[in-house]
Amino acid sequence: MKKDNVTILGGGLCGSLLSIMLARRGMKVTLLERQPDPRKGDAAGGRSINLVVSARGIRALEHAGIFEQIEPLLVPMAGRCIHDEDGATELHAYGQKESEVIHSVSRCCLNRAQLDCAETSHNVTIRFDQEAVSYYPEESTLRVRDHVKGHDYDIKARPLIATDGAGSIVRRAFADTDTLFGTEDLLGHSYKELAIPVNADGEFQMDPDALHIWPRGGFMLIALPNPGGDFTLTLFFPG
Ligand SMILES: Cc1cc2nc3c(=O)[nH]c(=O)nc-3n(C[C@H](O)[C@H](O)[C@H](O)COP(=O)(O)OP(=O)(O)OC[C@H]3O[C@@H](n4cnc5c(N)ncnc54)[C@H](O)[C@@H]3O)c2cc1C
Repeated sequence: MKKDNVTILGGGLCGSLLSIMLARRGMKVTLLERQPDPRKGDAAGGRSINLVVSARGIRALEHAGIFEQIEPLLVPMAGRCIHDEDGATELHAYGQKESEVIHSVSRCCLNRAQLDCAETSHNVTIRFDQEAVSYYPEESTLRVRDHVKGHDYDIKARPLIATDGAGSIVRRAFADTDTLFGTEDLLGHSYKELAIPVNADGEFQMDPDALHIWPRGGFMLIALPNPGGDFTLTLFFPG
C-alpha cells in the first residue's frame, strides 16, 4: 500500500477539511466530488442552509491552519431567541460568560472556502462532477461516473477515505460483508432554505446576536445571521 497517495471520496465539509490535514502531512491527496464546483455559480439549489459552528468546529479549523480564512465568514450568536405564536420573544444565552458564543456560517461559503484552501494552498487535486456509483471492497476499486465526459471508469483507490455523507455508497458496499456494520434511519423531515434580506438601510431586520427559532410542533423555522446583514432561514417540515 502506497501511503503517500490517498483518495478521498466526497468534497463536503469533512472531506475538504481532511484533505487539507492530510496534505499538510505531505500526502498527495485526490478528492472526488459528484457535484459541480460550488465556487462556480449557485450550486446549492436552495438548500445551502446555515450551520452553527461551536468551539469544537473552530478547533478543527485551527488545527487545519485555515481559521484565519474562515473567520470573516462567521457571525457570533450569544443566545437563542424563541419567537412564540403571539410574536413575543425570549432570549436564552448559550453560555455563562460573554465570550461563550456559537457562530453562524453559510454551509456553502464554508465549503467553498475549504475547497479553495485545499486546492490553492495545499495542492489537493479536486475532481468535480465525478460520482462514485459502486465500490468493490475486495478489489479496493471505485467505479466512477464522469458527468462531464459521460462515461464510467474504475480506479484502484487504496487507501480510500469515504466522506461521502449520510448516504455513503462506500458504507453501503460493506453491508453484505462482516467488515463494517451500520444502520441508516432516515429523518421524516425535509428542509428548505429561505431568506430575510437587509432593510432599506442595508442593516439586519432582527437582532443579529441570536439564533432565531420559531418552534411550531412538527414544523420549525430558524434564522441565522450572515456577515452582509441578511439572514438565512431553514424551514423544517414533515415529509
Ligand atoms: C438541515 C441541516 C442542518 C444542519 N445544521 C448543522 C449545524 O448547525 N451544525 C453542524 O455542525 N452541523 C449541522 N448539520 C450537519 C452537517 O451538515 C453535517 O454534519 C456535515 O455536512 C457532514 O459533513 P460530511 O462531509 O460528512 O457530509 P456532507 O457535507 O454531506 O458531504 C458529503 C459530500 O460527498 C459528496 N458525495 C456523496 N455521495 C457521493 C458519491 N457517490 N460520489 C462522489 N461524491 C459524493 C456530496 O456531494 C457531498 O459534497 C446540519 C445538517 C442539515 C441537513
